[in-house]
Amino acid sequence: MNKNELKSFVCSAIDSKQEEICRTGEELLRMPELAYKENKTSAFVSAHLEKLGLQVRKNLAITGVRADISTGRPGPRVGILGELDGLIVPNHLFADPVTHAAHACGHHAALNAMLHAASFLTQESVLSHLSGSFAFVGTPSEECQDQPYIASLIKKGQLQFFGGKSQMIAEGVFDDIDIAMMLHAGAENFTPSGFNGFVMKRLIFKGRSAHAGAAPEKGINAISMMRCAMTMIDAQRDTFRDEDHVRIHGYIPEGGEAVNVVPDNTVFTLQVRAGSPEAILDASEKVDRCVHAAALAFGGETQIENIFGFMPLVPYDAFDELHRENVKIVSPDTPFTKGIYRPSSTDMGDVSMIRPSLHAYFRGFAGSAHTDTFLASDKKAAYVDSVKYLVLNAIDLLWDDAATGKRIAALPTPMNKEEYIKAMKGFSSVKKFSCQ
Ligand SMILES: [Zn+2]
Ligand SMILES: [Zn+2]
Repeated sequence: MNKNELKSFVCSAIDSKQEEICRTGEELLRMPELAYKENKTSAFVSAHLEKLGLQVRKNLAITGVRADISTGRPGPRVGILGELDGLIVPNHLFADPVTHAAHACGHHAALNAMLHAASFLTQESVLSHLSGSFAFVGTPSEECQDQPYIASLIKKGQLQFFGGKSQMIAEGVFDDIDIAMMLHAGAENFTPSGFNGFVMKRLIFKGRSAHAGAAPEKGINAISMMRCAMTMIDAQRDTFRDEDHVRIHGYIPEGGEAVNVVPDNTVFTLQVRAGSPEAILDASEKVDRCVHAAALAFGGETQIENIFGFMPLVPYDAFDELHRENVKIVSPDTPFTKGIYRPSSTDMGDVSMIRPSLHAYFRGFAGSAHTDTFLASDKKAAYVDSVKYLVLNAIDLLWDDAATGKRIAALPTPMNKEEYIKAMKGFSSVKKFSCQ
């Protein structure tokens, strides 16, 4: 069998299991869970991989799992990833009535693709043609919800990072994985030219309380400090370069307690995103200066807590190209776009910092991601074609003594693991400022 014959043999085998593949996808859709609480999903993934005869390592980054299979011949280890978590979208048709978690980002479909890719790649009829090995990895917490819960796990020392893949990198799960790939659900087939990374900021303004009617002159108004900081942050926006894709957005979890008391404490939670670690730090530093300046203006205090979130995603053109060729085989009549920049963020960015990676979007969904309108509109594309993309990519990587896999594994990455961990920790900080 040559490579093309093997590819069409596997595609026919996948087609013959269409119903089963769609069924597990729909089961996962009805099992939405939030970050680091993906217990049912994790058990589902483990059971599927164990049924294939694989040994599953569990409780990686709390709910993550990994199972490996080797061809018995030397070659790179290809990590095939599937994300376990959903996010809070209460009005989603398949939202959990208690937690309000929903698969409004389509992780269930991409996870399903990973599970069934494992079903076919572990068959001797496929494996016997390849060299190297596979690691099937279920990764927790890409959406990082809910944040206070994750922050509590970090405080207790159970986690170092918000993102599941970041945490898995820190725990060594990717140490022996040479190449990583995953898919993401969307409206079109495309490969991104990059994603923003971000830093999470908790900005605490401390003033002095006083009677808001009788003696406001005795108080220091923490809301006034905060809104002046907001105005100064807004005024910084024209200093950001278009090519850095800076986004600054947030909300106010604490904004005072009573209408007739000058508020002495407010909290502003902010996310600063940009396309490179340098641009994230530049924008983050400008925000910090605005916060300190507001405290100076009012004679108050501020505390800034910066926790580095995700790294920007680095594209690997050769890997994207390999994927595009396989999309052409499976879906020749659908458009494919190369190089769409995503100003949102993913912890696959973190993996891409240290390993040649693929993070490609597959069609089959309609509506806006992260809203109640995001649902599979073409089940064959969402559940079946996505399996084929992963399997065909895997065959290309490990065919012919894994020649292509070795070439992609050797592509340079911006950082190694140690540099990555150092950067993640170095970019996090606590800064205090007081006029007292
Ligand atoms: Zn999402
Ligand atoms: Zn997502």
